[in-house]
Amino acid sequence: MARYTEAACRLCRREGEKLYLKGERCYTNKCSIGRRSYAPGEHGQARKKISEYGLQLREKQKLRRIYGILERQFAGYFTLAERKKGITGENLLQILESRLDNVVYRLGFAASRKEARQLVRHGHFQVNGKKVNIPSYLVKAGDVVAIKEGSLDSIKIKEILENAANHNIPEWLERDLENHSGKVKALPLREQIDVPVQEHLIVELYSR
Ligand code: SF4
Repeated sequence: MARYTEAACRLCRREGEKLYLKGERCYTNKCSIGRRSYAPGEHGQARKKISEYGLQLREKQKLRRIYGILERQFAGYFTLAERKKGITGENLLQILESRLDNVVYRLGFAASRKEARQLVRHGHFQVNGKKVNIPSYLVKAGDVVAIKEGSLDSIKIKEILENAANHNIPEWLERDLENHSGKVKALPLREQIDVPVQEHLIVELYSR
């Protein structure tokens, strides 16, 4: 399966802000944004005037990078968002938030979305009692996401569960650490999604 291979910190430096792609490291002074807050590459430190198109493009790239989505799949999500009732930009964010890998991350069952994707692919999670190993699976209101019983002996999963309590979860989710599971109370509203993007710029980009 195609995936991002570029170093995560380069992606943050390109966008000029923390995208929290590496879990724990992002909260320490090892974060590259604090140490080298200019874009990577030979011309990274040059001052550039950015066009309207450039702004829209950067916003789209930022959102793609936060969720680790490739261009084609992202365009597919945009089409889906357009077809849904409501505001396209908000629909887009809601769709991205309802990906299973994101929900696993939001529940504190992984340190980053990248780690969540890997754990889902390795078959450690169930949705409503059935194993689901597709990170892009879209959850619905009422779904219960749980760590598989058979995975509880894994050192990695034990470590995750020990740290999960430190992870704040958004109000649209409900976590049950005793049963190593979480419930989707409702799909999130825009104000419940703490992603620093101006989604209207992305809508403008795709309307060109
Ligand atoms: Fe981004 Fe995290 Fe790397 Fe900092 S440590 S640059 S927030 S991925």
